[in-house]
Amino acid sequence: VAVTHARPAGSLTAVHKSLLISAALGLGAVGLLILRGDAAAPLALHVPGPAIAIGLTALFLLGDYVLLNVEFRRQAYTFTLAGVPLALGMMLAVPLTFVAARLIGSAIVLVIQRVAPVKVAYNLSAYMFEAALAATTAGILIGHPEHLGPLVAAGFGVVLLAGDFLMTCLVLGMIRIHNGPLKRSDAIEVFVQTVCLCIASTSFAMVVVLLIKQGVLGVVLVVILTVGLAVAYHAYIGMSRRHKSLALVHEFVTGSVGAESVETLGEQLLNRIRTLLNAASAELVIFDDVDGGSQQKPPASSSALPAETTTLVLSIAEDEKLQVRRSVLDRSDWLTSRVVSQEDSIVAGRNTKDPGLRRWLEDHGHRDAMIVPLLIPNQLTGVLTLADRLGDTRTFVAEDLTTLQTLTGHLAIAIRGARLVQRLAYDATHDALTGLANRSFLTHRLRDILATTGDSVAVMLLDLDAFKEVNDALGHHVGDQLLQVVAERLTTALPSDSTIARLGGDEFAVLLPNIAYGPAAGGQVAEQIWTALVRPVHLDEAVLTPDASIGVAIGSATDRTADLLRQADTAMYAAKTSGDNVVVYSPELDRGRAERLALLADLRAALDSAPEQLVLHYQPKIDLVSGEVTGVEALVRWHHPTLGILAPGAFIPAAESTGLIERLTPHVIQQALADCRRWLDRGHDISVAVNISARNLSDRELPVRIRGALARAGVPAEQLVLEITESSVVGDPEQTLPTLRQLAGLGLCLSLDDFGTGYSSLSYLQRLPVHEVKIDRSFVQGLSSGDSENSRALIRSIAGLGANLCLRVVAEGVEHVELLTELRDLGCHVAQGYYISRPLPMDNLTVWPSNLRTNAFPRLQLVTDAVRTSSG
Ligand code: C2E
Ligand code: MG
Ligand code: MG
Repeated sequence: VAVTHARPAGSLTAVHKSLLISAALGLGAVGLLILRGDAAAPLALHVPGPAIAIGLTALFLLGDYVLLNVEFRRQAYTFTLAGVPLALGMMLAVPLTFVAARLIGSAIVLVIQRVAPVKVAYNLSAYMFEAALAATTAGILIGHPEHLGPLVAAGFGVVLLAGDFLMTCLVLGMIRIHNGPLKRSDAIEVFVQTVCLCIASTSFAMVVVLLIKQGVLGVVLVVILTVGLAVAYHAYIGMSRRHKSLALVHEFVTGSVGAESVETLGEQLLNRIRTLLNAASAELVIFDDVDGGSQQKPPASSSALPAETTTLVLSIAEDEKLQVRRSVLDRSDWLTSRVVSQEDSIVAGRNTKDPGLRRWLEDHGHRDAMIVPLLIPNQLTGVLTLADRLGDTRTFVAEDLTTLQTLTGHLAIAIRGARLVQRLAYDATHDALTGLANRSFLTHRLRDILATTGDSVAVMLLDLDAFKEVNDALGHHVGDQLLQVVAERLTTALPSDSTIARLGGDEFAVLLPNIAYGPAAGGQVAEQIWTALVRPVHLDEAVLTPDASIGVAIGSATDRTADLLRQADTAMYAAKTSGDNVVVYSPELDRGRAERLALLADLRAALDSAPEQLVLHYQPKIDLVSGEVTGVEALVRWHHPTLGILAPGAFIPAAESTGLIERLTPHVIQQALADCRRWLDRGHDISVAVNISARNLSDRELPVRIRGALARAGVPAEQLVLEITESSVVGDPEQTLPTLRQLAGLGLCLSLDDFGTGYSSLSYLQRLPVHEVKIDRSFVQGLSSGDSENSRALIRSIAGLGANLCLRVVAEGVEHVELLTELRDLGCHVAQGYYISRPLPMDNLTVWPSNLRTNAFPRLQLVTDAVRTSSG
């Protein structure tokens, strides 16, 4: 019995040890031959010496070449049939002939099999020693018996068994030297097999001797017996192989059911394929889903593979650890390309004659390999490469390729299944439009974070402002694009360990885990997000500037998921109503909510029975060329009985969201018109502007009401300006445009307030029947900030557009005198702002119109100074 180990560890000392042992065995063999090399054969058969020599050599050659192969783990246990000629040679040949036949026969086989020189040296010296030892011992112990009787047979058997035992010990020692200690059970198994094989082959050899002694009939029977055994063995091998692959296919199919990811599936199945086919490594290249997996598409043939096919590469080697990487399909690799383009399988055996395959193996550092395409009916989904057949004496053959193809078919289907499962799991937890997580994913993640982290976590809810308007005015596809832009900006702005989700509509959420956030830090991050979000973006010829209100809640392990989400929601709502970008939750906000409700009740009561609490202040607008006051803007103040004077920001948003604004606006209009009548009576021809909310515009009766109010107050329509915000028009143009046209038809002036903020689309301006645009104060104030160039460019283009459309251009929020000249040079016509005058009560106002009348622009500063002193 010879045992060859699969892979030399290659360490220098191990090689040296092998060579030393080989030399010792070789010397031992030579020594034995010198002592008894020419002793006569124990049994005399009437066959000439040369015939015995040739026959034995042939039998050794055959015996070593035809192997009975049993493998487990890394070891290839190769049982040779050499036991038969060994027994025959010992009984029938002169020791020298016997050893020479063993040496020559085995050497030829080792050379054919390209076995490494170290192993050739060891094997040949061991074989020589084994043969020399057996021959010598048999000669000495048994001598030259007349017949092959039971006692003699037992003697031969014992000699052979002892020799085999010794050789097995040596081989196990060699394996130990090269591959480390062997498991005891493995060693015992090897011994048991050795003994069995030795008994079998010795018995067979003795039967042969006994039969040959019988003459011609015996020889014929030997031949028949040998052929019969060979056929039986062959059948057995085929059957056991088929059984093995069937068992594996079965295990394969059952094992792959329900794998939740391609990676886990790949790890299991690749390893099984690798072990079944005794390959050192397996590499699976899976093409990225071209068709998205779920849609029914015509079968993509390989030629339809995109030029740059991205792939997922799973590889596994003997350490059974899965390596995963992404890469692009290497088209310069001709073998892979061939498998991909022709969808056929290739086996490159160790002794392949094909120069191309030889090169390929060399380039990839493989001894042998099989490459198979992964096909789910008609569709190529990947390529599987199996490389380096374990065991020195075997290589991949056509039969292995067939097994591999069968397994690969199952692998392809299993992978498709796993991909579908993965996709379903993804779809269930992600938003289809933006690819962000969805609400269910977010809540689970938040629960996980709260359960596992000691640090605090920030939960942010983000709601886009006036998103509905974008959808209505510009169409859903623009709305969708805007949501994608927002998703993208959030993803870039946030650290990678954060979770970003779209909760639905225009509502987004962010989780920032594992960072020690205080409320201040949480607010800062939210401010950063806001800043990243509100840059203008061009979509379908419209310039949209997304704006959002962000509510932040900070929690830790003691908080509950639902509480945190509710707190963030409260904060977000507070941000919406207060107009702040970011609000961090505090318990006062809950109280604030209650206060807000109380405030609304108070407002309702004031409108019912104490309208005098709602007072108008007026802020003048001056002509930038003449310096004359051309009009005033009415801005409401609420003299609340207990809270004091409230600015519009404190109650207008709430009034707008509850519908109370529908009662407030008529009140403001009525009062403003009454005041206007008083100025007219005193001979001051100035217009009065009133702010109109979106909700007022959706009231179809508005034009009729205003006509009535104008008539009642006795004010000509051209004295009244209605300030509307762009978003209130854009929101529902079908309904508001006719209303606006009717209003314009009354002869009053429509002014577009806060222009430039929100979803400004300059081209949209042409469609509106407006007479005036008011550039938002953020741009005017931007002129004196670091970013003045941008503001300047924006004001210039708005003014240019205004000039084209014959609109009056008003600049809001002028706080410095220098701005007046600059705004005029940029093309603005009218200015309004604290520098000219703060909003003033009616009584203070009556003083200034006469003082302010002046035509000289250079004196404007003096005049406005006068206004400011007079207003106190
Ligand atoms: P708005 O229509 O843009 O009014 C201009 C706001 O800017 C006023 O704030 C005004 O006091 C302020 N402002 C004027 N000049 C300057 C300046 O130089 N610097 C700065 N920083 N601010 C200046 P106010 O009075 O607090 O009003 C805020 C908003 O409330 C108004 O913005 C308007 O949208 C709304 N509002 C006021 N009164 C009414 C009303 O009667 N009805 C409705 N629907 N909304 C109103
Ligand atoms: Mg206004
Ligand atoms: Mg404004």
